[in-house]
Amino acid sequence: MTLHIPFDNSYATLPEGFFARVKPTPVKDPSLIAFNTDLARELGIDGLDDPDMAAIFAGNMVPNGASPLAQLYAGHQFGQYNPQLGDGRAVLLGETIGADGIRWDIQLKGSGQTPFSRMGDGRAWLGPVLREYVVSEAMHALGVPTTRALAAVRTGEAVIRERPLPGAVLTRVAQSHIRVGTFQVFAARGDTQALQTLFDYAVARHTPDATDPALFLDAVMRKQAALVAHWLSIGFIHGVMNTDNCSIAGETIDYGPCAFMDSYHPETVFSSIDRYGRYSYAAQADIIVWNMAQLATALLPLMPDPEAAVEPFTAQIHKMPEMIRAEWLKRFGAKIGLADPKPEDAKLISDLLGAMESAKADFTNTFRGLIDGTARDHFLDPMEFDVWADTWKARIDDEDNPIAVMEAANPVLIPRNHRIEAMITAATEGDDGPFQRLMAAYADPYRPSPDTEDLRRPPTDSEVVRATFCGT
Ligand code: AMP
Ligand code: MG
Repeated sequence: MTLHIPFDNSYATLPEGFFARVKPTPVKDPSLIAFNTDLARELGIDGLDDPDMAAIFAGNMVPNGASPLAQLYAGHQFGQYNPQLGDGRAVLLGETIGADGIRWDIQLKGSGQTPFSRMGDGRAWLGPVLREYVVSEAMHALGVPTTRALAAVRTGEAVIRERPLPGAVLTRVAQSHIRVGTFQVFAARGDTQALQTLFDYAVARHTPDATDPALFLDAVMRKQAALVAHWLSIGFIHGVMNTDNCSIAGETIDYGPCAFMDSYHPETVFSSIDRYGRYSYAAQADIIVWNMAQLATALLPLMPDPEAAVEPFTAQIHKMPEMIRAEWLKRFGAKIGLADPKPEDAKLISDLLGAMESAKADFTNTFRGLIDGTARDHFLDPMEFDVWADTWKARIDDEDNPIAVMEAANPVLIPRNHRIEAMITAATEGDDGPFQRLMAAYADPYRPSPDTEDLRRPPTDSEVVRATFCGT
């Protein structure tokens, strides 16, 4: 059968200045590494036995109904405004309406140069493509809002980084690719008409009840507060929370130098380009407020009296830390078995985290250990834990089913960096076995199983990954 994607494209009907129409650049010898059949079904895609699958998801053949384009955006990168970004190595094929009624973007990433490529080659190498495939699908299984991975294809071409590396193309699926930076580009140019068009489009697509900029800002802030608290609760570090990597739909987007924390420390940073820890584990809760302030600034020109709106918008942004604290309390309360945590429970949680920090305790295994009684093994001085545990047990005494609450909030498996690195090394040498194994294991991250016991182990000293690279 021929592959059929039921495209229903809307971004392509926006004014021409919103994007550049550009086709993916064909590659030499495409071969499929992975295809997400379940996701394809949810998107209404059929004809999956098409012999041209690899060619299609490499960008060599543009499927019927696609309107390929590269989106324009700008953004603050590490606090510096960059007025001209845009999809430099990605092409949006189009959108489909899923079985869930949601409109989904289908985008190729690593598909060649576009007018926004600047000095880049428009390509991606296998490593970041597989990292994004595995980690984004793991995040989905963990229950975190995220872009998805539909396909990964080897190109049969080398891309030149520090050395020649195998090239690959990822197919990314997202509720949209509208970023804070998409608003910023039109606001910074003073193009209020385009800004209004983008606003109307984003509201219709994502927040239909938010009819004015203040309501829209509030809706995006709520999604992002929930998202970042969710990240914190599983030890996820995004690594590059630039405003161009901050989705209006509230999904985790851009798995460049992301990593999961092994032993708990709030200042953990992995990204090699994050020299000052701007995007460290704990800083994420502050940075998202900063990013939302940039969104607020970009929305000001839409207000009847922009100057008068500065004060109420500022007041609105000042409410965000409290929103994040509430989401954090909900998530971390669940991690210690509290279905309905109270503000005074924050101390109980913080005390545990403080003890974990001094003990360099493994974040994932310590919380999971609260369920099976092994948590105390993670402390050099188990007595310190016992003292905390006495107070904790007294507190969860009145809970209905703390174990079930903890089992749902504390994953057994997270995509640990050393596993991801080993998987990439194997795939670079042509062995996709570890990739397949991780994909299968991370699909079910809350269930302990003898088959995946080894994947729970933190890295040994020699396995520790100290830095991750955007590795574009
Ligand atoms: P990213 O870290 O993937 O979000 O990339 C930041 C910006 O640089 C985006 O606008 C990308 O489109 C662009 N970019 C990253 N890598 C490349 C590349 N190899 N070629 C062209 N543009 C790129
Ligand atoms: Mg990006």
